Amino acid sequence: MTLADEVRRAELVAALGSVRSRIAQACQSAGREAQSVTMIAVTKTYPASDIATLAQLGVTDVGESRDQQARAKVAELAGPPYPPVELRWHLVGQLQTNKARSVVSYAHAVHSLDRPELATALADAAARIERPDPLAVFVQVSLDGDPSRGGVVADGVATLAETVAGRTELTLAGVMAVAPLAAEPDVAFAALHQVSVQMQREHPHAVAISAGMSADLEAAIRNGSTHVRVGSALLGRRSTVFG
Ligand SMILES: *Cc1c(COP(=O)(O)O)cnc(C)c1O
Repeated sequence: MTLADEVRRAELVAALGSVRSRIAQACQSAGREAQSVTMIAVTKTYPASDIATLAQLGVTDVGESRDQQARAKVAELAGPPYPPVELRWHLVGQLQTNKARSVVSYAHAVHSLDRPELATALADAAARIERPDPLAVFVQVSLDGDPSRGGVVADGVATLAETVAGRTELTLAGVMAVAPLAAEPDVAFAALHQVSVQMQREHPHAVAISAGMSADLEAAIRNGSTHVRVGSALLGRRSTVFG
């Protein structure tokens, strides 16, 4: 390892320790088991070498917001100098239907399902290949009623969930949201929890809630999040916002 590699590794060790203890603390305050929350390391804009280091440190779930970046890193990590590693890849950003074929070839989950056409494209693409498991899908909910920032408004959730549930190539995992900038995170995540409760009436297995990022993971965990998506608190500040 070069000195720069060692310095980077030490940074990641420290950041990971701090995020894990924040999660543990938040779970304890909420009276929840620490294992009830999965941490997804959102590595957009960061290199494959960081993912390999995080994997060595026990991180198993990796998130990317764009198919192209994700796919490139999957390919890079598949061979030398990297040791073989089992990672679950999560797509967390808005997705065009023409990316479906690529996404189903490597992804464990898509957190940003926001329209029926995308569910159909993902299911059709998955049907054409051999996947070990169905693709896990989270319905992204727009909590401020402004779907331009991603997500479907609460009224549209049930229809989208039906579309996913109707396809054997997909598993309806649950709901996902990004807290609106103008909202109190606790208020936003409480609203998302309500959407989840509603979804579970029709789909009892769809218990996952993908909520909480670097700045608001405690509020998300207080409100039942099962999957926190952590980027900057782990990897450092990005030079671009959306990667
Ligand atoms: C970038 C991103 C994250 C991680 O955000 P941080 O604030 O860096 O933790 C989580 N979810 C989505 C959808 C993202 O695009």
